[in-house]
Order: sequence, then structure tokens, then C-alpha cells
Amino acid sequence: MKLLEQFARTRRWDTEERQVLEQVQRVADEVIAPNAEHTDRTSDFPWENVRTINELGLNMLFVPEQFGGLGMSYALYLEVVSIISEACASTGIIYATNFHGMKPLIQYGNDEQRARLLPRIAEGGLGALAITETTAGSDATDMKTRFTPEGDDIIVQGSKIFISNGDVADLYLLFGKWSTIEDPRRSISVLILEKGTPGFEVVSKERKMGHNGSSTCGLAFDGCRVPRANLLGEPGDGLKILLASLNKSRPSVAAHALGIARAAFKDMVAYGNERVQGVSVYSTSKAISLRWRIWPVSY
Ligand SMILES: Cc1cc2nc3c(=O)[nH]c(=O)nc-3n(C[C@H](O)[C@H](O)[C@H](O)COP(=O)(O)OP(=O)(O)OC[C@H]3O[C@@H](n4cnc5c(N)ncnc54)[C@H](O)[C@@H]3O)c2cc1C
Repeated sequence: MKLLEQFARTRRWDTEERQVLEQVQRVADEVIAPNAEHTDRTSDFPWENVRTINELGLNMLFVPEQFGGLGMSYALYLEVVSIISEACASTGIIYATNFHGMKPLIQYGNDEQRARLLPRIAEGGLGALAITETTAGSDATDMKTRFTPEGDDIIVQGSKIFISNGDVADLYLLFGKWSTIEDPRRSISVLILEKGTPGFEVVSKERKMGHNGSSTCGLAFDGCRVPRANLLGEPGDGLKILLASLNKSRPSVAAHALGIARAAFKDMVAYGNERVQGVSVYSTSKAISLRWRIWPVSY
């Protein structure tokens, strides 16, 4: 364990960042970790964890100051994801998805959109990123969801699958194809769909092998009318925004995995030190102690 602590000490957080991390560690230990087993066993959405995250204002970390946030560093955000994920993998995804969904709004939204929508996230609203469809996974460009302009509105028709926070989000960053642009790659566009929009429905929820408290949903859009004011950039700007959002969201998937790996490692060391087999504790048995020597970790 000392190796992990030594590694953590090499990170050069300033005083304010250290204070944030101490608070995150405190709520991870006191609230989030104790709820983790129940959350995974029952698949109940961990609202208490989300409330705790919001009381600490953790969504504010990544929202710029002028829109009600703190505008702290991406590295700090990643560290927070890994601490939360170590305590509860489901809660880690839920928190990180807020960032995945809202980072493109921060980066590509105009001032009116950011001033109108971001405070809702800074104050604790949930975000979702909706790209994947039955025909569009690794190759997201084959999406079929269609955006048709009609006066001051955009009519949305289509569906999505595997959307994290899909049944609980307040704002959805939704990708689809602009109906009047022929070239399929150039037609990808992106808008913000708000919770409660008529014609929007959550149609399914995946049963998974883990992360059960984080909902992964199928969504349907049947003639949803979204104000054109919610379109990010211009029609056809979506592919560039999609690739930029994946570039920022993939490192948080790594931070999430790191948190889970750290939890597994600590459990393994604790188990090895406690379990008695014959006359010795497990970690002193030949096979295990050989591995300890190959991989020299103090514990
Ligand atoms: C828990 C969970 C949460 C998710 N949350 C979200 C979310 O919030 N928002 C969202 O939009 N999506 C989400 N997704 C969807 C995720 O982004 C997709 O699952 C991912 O993009 C892969 O798509 P796919 O599942 O269709 O797999 P596929 O694209 O079908 O890939 C299956 C396998 O085939 C391989 N493969 C694919 N194409 C090729 C090729 N041309 N040549 C060789 N091999 C290939 C892939 O590497 C992979 O191993 C989530 C998925 C999961 C499991």
C-alpha cells in the first residue's frame, strides 16, 4: 500500500486542490463506500451518493467560474473520478458521465447556451452523452437518429442504446444527422435535449454484470421538438465535437479503471494479511510471498 501512497505524493497538488481531494476522500470513505455493496446488489440508483457529491459541489469543479462553477484542472477532475470509483464503481461512472455529457457544452456552446444550461449542472443536475445506436458503436458515424429543422425548432426522430444516466439525466448531449445534409459524415450534428421533452422516452435498462447502480439505457425520440437555440455550433459540426468529447471522456474511463484496480489491490492485500491457512497467514504462504517478492510492495 505504501507504493500507492508514495505514488500519490508525487502528484503536485496545490493547497486548494489538496483540500478538495481530502474532502472527496472523506465522503468516499464515510458515505460512498458504505453504500457500494447495496448499490451493486440491488441496482438501485445511488441517490444518497449523488446528493453527497452535490453537497460537496463536485460538478462545480469542471464548470467554468463565470457559469457558476470553479473551473479547476482536468487532472484534479480525473483524480476525483478515481477516488469515487475506488469507493463505488457505479457512482464513479455517474459522476464522470456528467463531465462527458457537459464538457462539449462548455467547449462548443455559445455564451447564451452556457449561461442558460451550465448552472443546472453546476448546482448538481445530471448529464448524459448520447452517441451509441444499434448501428453505431465503434463506428459512431453510422447513426440513424435524424434532426429535421422546422422553423425555430429541430424535430428529433430516432433512438439510442447503452446511455449512462439515460433514465436520470437532466440534460442530454444528443448526436444525430441533419436531414438536409447528404454526406453522412458531414451531417452529424449535436444538440442539448432537456429532461421532460415530449416524445422522449426511456425504453429499456440493461442488466449488467457489474456497475449495477449506474443505469445504462435505451432511449427513443419520437418527434421531439427541441429549440434551435439548443443546437451546438452549426448543423454538421457534430463529428468534430464527437471526437473531441471522446478525447476528453476516454481518460476518465482510465481514471475509473484505476480506482477500481486500487480497490481490488487493497482488498487483496488485506485478505492476504488476514487469512490463516494452516499455521501462517496467507500472505506468508510460499506462492503468495514469492509474488510479493517479484512485485515488491510494502504492506
Ligand atoms: C456500461 C456501458 C456504458 C456506456 N455508456 C455510454 C454512454 O453514456 N453514451 C454512449 O453514447 N454510449 C455508451 N456506451 C456504448 C459504448 O460507447 C459502445 O459500447 C462502444 O462504442 C462499442 O460499441 P458496440 O458496443 O456497438 O461494439 P462494436 O462496435 O460492435 O464492437 C464490438 C467488437 O468488435 C470490434 N470491432 C468493431 N469494429 C471493428 C472493425 N471494423 N474491425 C475489427 N474489429 C472491430 C470492437 O473493437 C469490439 O471488440 C456504453 C457502453 C457500456 C457497456
